[in-house]
Formats: sequence, structure tokens, C-alpha cells
Amino acid sequence: MSLRIYNTLTRRKEEFRPLEEGKVRIYCCGPTVYDYFHIGNARTFVFFDVVRRYLEFKGYDVRYVQNITDIDDKIINRAHEMGISPKEVADRFTQAYLEDSRSLLIKPPTVNPKATEHIPDMIELIKRLIDKGAAYVVDGDVYFDVRSFPEYGKLSGRSLDDLLAGARVEVDERKRHPEDFALWKSAKPGEPWWESPWGRGRPGWHIECSVMAMKHLGETIDIHGGGIDLIFPHHENEIAQSETATGKPFARYWMHVAFLRAGGRRMGKSEGNFIFVRDALKRFKPEAIRLFLLSAHYRSPLDYTEERLAEAEGAVSRLRNCLLNLKRFGAEGKVKGELAEEERKLADALEELKGKFEEEMDDDFNTAGAIGAIFDFVSHANKFIAENQGRFTDNARALMREAYETLLKLTDVLGIYREERRSGDEELISKLIDLIVEIRHEARQRKDWATADKIRDRLAQLGIKLQDTREGTIWRFED
Ligand code: AMP
Ligand code: ZN
Repeated sequence: MSLRIYNTLTRRKEEFRPLEEGKVRIYCCGPTVYDYFHIGNARTFVFFDVVRRYLEFKGYDVRYVQNITDIDDKIINRAHEMGISPKEVADRFTQAYLEDSRSLLIKPPTVNPKATEHIPDMIELIKRLIDKGAAYVVDGDVYFDVRSFPEYGKLSGRSLDDLLAGARVEVDERKRHPEDFALWKSAKPGEPWWESPWGRGRPGWHIECSVMAMKHLGETIDIHGGGIDLIFPHHENEIAQSETATGKPFARYWMHVAFLRAGGRRMGKSEGNFIFVRDALKRFKPEAIRLFLLSAHYRSPLDYTEERLAEAEGAVSRLRNCLLNLKRFGAEGKVKGELAEEERKLADALEELKGKFEEEMDDDFNTAGAIGAIFDFVSHANKFIAENQGRFTDNARALMREAYETLLKLTDVLGIYREERRSGDEELISKLIDLIVEIRHEARQRKDWATADKIRDRLAQLGIKLQDTREGTIWRFED
């Protein structure tokens, strides 16, 4: 099956073909480390983590780069506020970004390059742009001349004339055109600086991404992404700089994630309506936060509410209990001979899950549809288990094992389920429940109904359902 991606550049869905067969190079704009990141940023980061995981699932060798912007006005301002150096601010929040990403089950990118570790490369690229006549120096600043790049505006669909007409009264008279942007900024007193041919200063924001993408992925990359706020001017500027320097297309597919909103507005630092990932993690499991963030297609806005996160928490535990049951009742083996009707239906549901999951994900990463397919199957499997427990055939056990393994793989693409860290724990838990059930059985034989009922009720509170049958008591995980 072939993957189709909506490309912001062409404004349509296109079949995905990487530049080099079997390999995919992805760059996603990372955080500016002046504070913790919030669940709005996390929507973008988790989504690209899933893009990466899905491409790996499809067998590609993926190189995934997410940068860390560790020099910027916001960092300098924060340093003043906190009374520490910009480097201390950046180090502290870089650490926090790495920790929170790990806690959110984001697979570590292949490389997490830092802007400050690429200053010489940025200076080189700026020199090339000046040599080509696309950039100019004014009083220690260097600007990119957008008029030198006739395709400027192609990503955001704006023409230069529109941009000019819409430009506010320009305050910086030194620039040739109002939309020209800084590649290098001369240092003001008290600001961090690096030596350059144009004097002491620091890089502009846009140039860092061009440099780090090209350095770690090559001059043409397959997928470049970020949130929709980055289309203009950030990504437009990245294209202008990179393509002017190399004469080659910079990125083949541009993908942009719509906003997570809260109270009807974009979740953002300046709006004051944000929740830090580390605070959300104190109340909700990472799997639940991911499930919530992936519950809408990435190009649709998603509204944050506490209830929706709580619902996701419930869904994640339903999924977990289903997997635990399938694991416990499943057994190695091949399906042999005729399947009973119920088994046939389960086998069909499993095939449908496999097909549907890929179909949805191939359709421009429709995670909402993929999650729907998973939960349809979970309902089916739960029903099968509830109706057949106590008389599973070898075929049923083989099917449940296959279902378990399939679900494990598919949920791993979304990062919404984790095997217990030590499988020994699960076995121990199962044995303990067997023991409690046995003790309850003895209580019933003594006609000690109070104890028997108490055990049943307390186990139910823990999501363990008992069922008394003629052959004895059976149990399973259930919400
Ligand atoms: P920043 O640190 O603000 O540069 O943001 C890091 C990444 O998060 C960028 O790709 C932004 O586009 C993205 N982002 C910021 N706010 C949101 C939001 N409310 N929803 C989705 N993505 C966002
Ligand atoms: Zn960027």
C-alpha cells in the first residue's frame, strides 16, 4: 500500500516517494529552550514521532532530526528575568525538554542538534549567500534579500507583491525591502556573541534550521515539518536561503500540524492558556496524553479539555486490559481445520484491523482513523473473550496470540501502549490473582459469603472481573 502525504508546498495529497529508495530523512523544528514545553508543542512533537515510527513500521530506514534552538531573544529575555546567563537558561530547559520528551514516550531523534554548536556552519552559509548577491551587510547585521529569490512566497501561497502591500510601515530603514530578514544580528551590549566576518553577533533564527537540516540530512531532505505557525515566515525563509545556496529543492514534502487549542484559542505561552507536559504527566499517563493528541487528524485543530484527557485515560486502560487478556489466554500455534463461527468472526475482525490501520495511516497519517480501527477491534476481542472464556479451543488461543502480537505492533506505532517493564511482574500478578480466587473459593465452600463478596467487589474495583461457572471461577481484566 502506498502512503500519501498532504504537501503544504503543492497544496495537495501526493504519493510519498523518498529521494533515496528505502531511506527517509525528516527534519522537524524543535523547541526554543526558554521554558518547559506545553502540550500544544507536544502535539507537533508527538505527531512527528508517529510519522517517524510509522515509516519505520513500513520498513524505511529513517533518519529523524529535531533541532534545539538554544540562542534566541526569548532566551536572552528569560535570562535577564531569572538573573542567570542565557547559557544556563538554555541548558536547564534543554535538559527539561529531553526529560519530558522521554516521559512522553517520544523516541529520541537520531540527532538533536543545537544551534550554538553550528555557528561556523551558519557563518559559511551566510557567506555563500552574500557571494551570490542574495544577502547584504548593514552595520554588522546581515539580511537576506527576498527579491533575489523569485519563488519567495511559494510555500505560504503569498506573492511578494501581496507581502509588500500587507507590510506594516517599515521601521528599519536600513533594509532594502520590508520582508528582508536577518541572517546575522550584531550583538547588543550584554548579549551573547560569536566572532564573525561582520563583527560580533549571533545568528538569526531561520538560518539555523537550514544549516542543521543540510548538515545532518543533506541538501535535499524528504520531509520537513512543524506547527502551522511556522509556514510563514520561518519555513518560507528556510526555503529561500537553502535553495538560493544550493540551487536544489530543500524539502520534498512540507507537513504542518494544526494547533492544539484551549478555550477556543491557540494554546501558547503568550496566550497564557497552556499546560506544561510535566504538569499534565502528574495527572495523566503518557499513553493517554498521546492518545488524546492523536485523536484528531493532524491538519484539524484539536480542542483541549480535561474531560477529553480523562476519556483518553479510560480508553488507554481498556486497551491495556484487552492486551493483558489476549496475552494471558493466547497460545503459540497455527490455526488448524475449521474455525467455529465466533472464531471466524474474530479472525475476520483481525484482518480488517490490519488492513484498516494501514489504510488510514497511509491516508496522510490519519491517526484518528487508525485509533478507531484499533478500538473497534478491542471491542470485538473483549466480547469474544467474555463470551467464550472457560472453553477456548486451541484455534481460539492461536488467534488470540496473533491478535495480541498485532495489537502490540500497531499500538507501538502510535506509542499508546507499553508492555509492563518486567514481564515477570505480569506473571506474578496473574499467580496472585489465582491465589485470591482460590481463597475466595474456599470461603464460598464455608458459606462465608461476606468474604467471598468482598473479594469479588474489591477485585472488580481493580478491573478484575470474576465469573462463577460450573467448572469453577474464572477471571479476566475488564474496566
Ligand atoms: P516553539 O518553541 O514555540 O518554537 O514551538 C515548537 C513547535 O511547537 C513548533 O513546531 C510550533 O509550531 C509548535 N507549536 C506551538 N504551539 C502549538 C500549538 N498550540 N499546537 C500545535 N503546535 C504548536
Ligand atoms: Zn525551524
